[in-house]
Amino acid sequence: MARNDAAHKEETAVTRLAGVRQKLAAAAREAGRDPAAVTLIAVSKTFDAEAILPVLEVGQRVFGENRVQEAQGKWPALKEHFADIELHLIGPLQTNKVKEALALFDVMHTLDREKLARALVKEREKGASLPRLFVQVNTGEEEQKAGLLPAEVDDFIASCKGEWQIEVEGLMCIPPVDEEPALHFALLEKIARRNGLEKLSMGMSGDYETAIACGATHVRVGSAIFGSRTRP
Ligand SMILES: *Cc1c(COP(=O)(O)O)cnc(C)c1O
Repeated sequence: MARNDAAHKEETAVTRLAGVRQKLAAAAREAGRDPAAVTLIAVSKTFDAEAILPVLEVGQRVFGENRVQEAQGKWPALKEHFADIELHLIGPLQTNKVKEALALFDVMHTLDREKLARALVKEREKGASLPRLFVQVNTGEEEQKAGLLPAEVDDFIASCKGEWQIEVEGLMCIPPVDEEPALHFALLEKIARRNGLEKLSMGMSGDYETAIACGATHVRVGSAIFGSRTRP
């Protein structure tokens, strides 16, 4: 394709995805890391199956949703056509939705309280297998935000390992909008390291390259792939 054609090509979720993948790989190499060590979670919240399909067709398989009910409305049908989809829950989970969440999601990034941990244990006792789990940390200690306070994380992880026998894979954070994200990413990395956790879910459309420089293993990118949303 001629250079001009490429420049004038319409921007779509597919072309934006390719751009994000390129930047992700460049950021990883820049940090001396293997690009394959960073999982790109395409955050498809608010977008319907029609918008998601082209991205599936070019091979993206890892997706993030923040609401159980919304995910239930579009993913079961898509999963029938693409058997290897990996679905990540990145939004807060109410305990009365745990059963439904377990049926749909492969990974949960928002384990953030004892009540939720106990609800997971209860479902496991009834025969459910638990998803891969990240503990959400409120690194900015913001009142309105979900997640454990940094000072609470060590005890919580210890309870997961001990009392509840829940395997935690890593930590997740959403930095405050008006602060330097690298400080929060570094804090999350430090808490993970002292707890022996290897996975870090951090970085969104505006800061995923920074997050990769700070050690992110999972970046959650929505609008940079699907375009802007009418609600968060
Ligand atoms: C919406 C959302 C994202 C993606 O945000 P973008 O800025 O669109 O990339 C990432 N993480 C969480 C928890 C979200 O709710």
